[in-house]
Amino acid sequence: MKIAILKERRPGEARVAATPEVVKKYLGLGFEIAVETGAGDGASLPDSLYEQAGATLAKDAKAALAGAGIALKVQRPTAAEAKAFDRGTLLLSLVDPYRAGAELKALADAGITAFAMEFMPRITRAQSMDVLSSQANLAGYKAVIDAAGEFGRAFPLMMTAAGRVNPAQVLVMGAGVAGLQAIATARRLGAVVHATDVRPAAKEQVESLGAKFVAVEDEEFKQAETAGGYAKEMSDAYKKKQAELTAETIKKMDIVITTALIPGRPAPKLISAEMVESMKPGSVIVDLAVETGGNCELSEPDRIAVKHGVKIIGHRNLPARLATDTSQLYATNLFNLVSLLWDKAEKKLAVDWDDEIVKSTVVTRDGEIVHPNLEQVKA
Ligand code: NAD
Repeated sequence: MKIAILKERRPGEARVAATPEVVKKYLGLGFEIAVETGAGDGASLPDSLYEQAGATLAKDAKAALAGAGIALKVQRPTAAEAKAFDRGTLLLSLVDPYRAGAELKALADAGITAFAMEFMPRITRAQSMDVLSSQANLAGYKAVIDAAGEFGRAFPLMMTAAGRVNPAQVLVMGAGVAGLQAIATARRLGAVVHATDVRPAAKEQVESLGAKFVAVEDEEFKQAETAGGYAKEMSDAYKKKQAELTAETIKKMDIVITTALIPGRPAPKLISAEMVESMKPGSVIVDLAVETGGNCELSEPDRIAVKHGVKIIGHRNLPARLATDTSQLYATNLFNLVSLLWDKAEKKLAVDWDDEIVKSTVVTRDGEIVHPNLEQVKA
């Protein structure tokens, strides 16, 4: 069976859904691989590396897709791109299903069976396919590096003959995968790190990384985690108490990294314009949630906004800013899912539609939007 590796066309997307290393693994399973020319360019993976790995180059998406049973992408195809797929092709991609609108219907109309990688259940068996974790990890790292690049001061404490340089005070808001990596990275650079979250489980994780946990730890906080391990949306009363604590804390911070998300909902607003105004000039905020509306009221997508002397970094797609590494991890996540769908002995597709991993991720099939969480999107 042929797998098509398509070039990403959305602005700012530099990743690719399969690297030459992973191509070799697919060939080992008995697949043929067609790579659209230039697919790996953004991740510094030239066509020649794919050819050396044993892939065939295709001059465009249509040629790559001709006769393919599986297509791999990073971002959901546009409605125009979807038209190039044969009906029944399996697509593994980020789909952003809650915000895909007409493009989700276009995938269904094109007869594509789309696996939305962000819907991967958080069960042990699926950990190696969890793209949100693999990408968030590197995003958390990059957020701190970006902040350090824009910060006019140093991170570590330095005792020099010319005097003392104080360590940077860093606040990480949201201690999920990205937040924990941001904490670890900022600590490695020598900052004094504080972190906040609404899930009680985060407290121990934050403290084990050597950061100080700052949160409103009331009764609601104790119940704030869903069975899936995600945060719930908090009540207005909680938000008010949290805002007071943030206002108090943020004044003393040099760097703030925000990563707070609630699946399928707009990002919680944690930093108001007033709080930004209260920060020291030269401070830096990195808003990782800018794509879903931002955790900071003043962040602007794909810009470094300077407000009240504070730089607010709003890169929309942080994983794409480390495209070589994020592509490698993403490609491995997809490979692990393809392996689950493949009968290695018979060398043919063997999809168990009742498998929890399959049921949780398939969003379109046989011309329909089929995922139970997307009933509203459908209507
Ligand atoms: P996420 O990207 O959904 O959100 C980032 C963080 O923001 C979360 O920690 C969340 O609690 C926090 N947050 C949400 N609203 C907030 C608010 N109002 N104020 C402050 N913080 C807020 O999170 P994630 O990285 O996907 O991680 C969520 C959980 O899932 C974590 O416990 C993580 O360890 C767990 N996880 C489990 C698996 C697995 O079992 N396979 C894989 C990855 C992550």
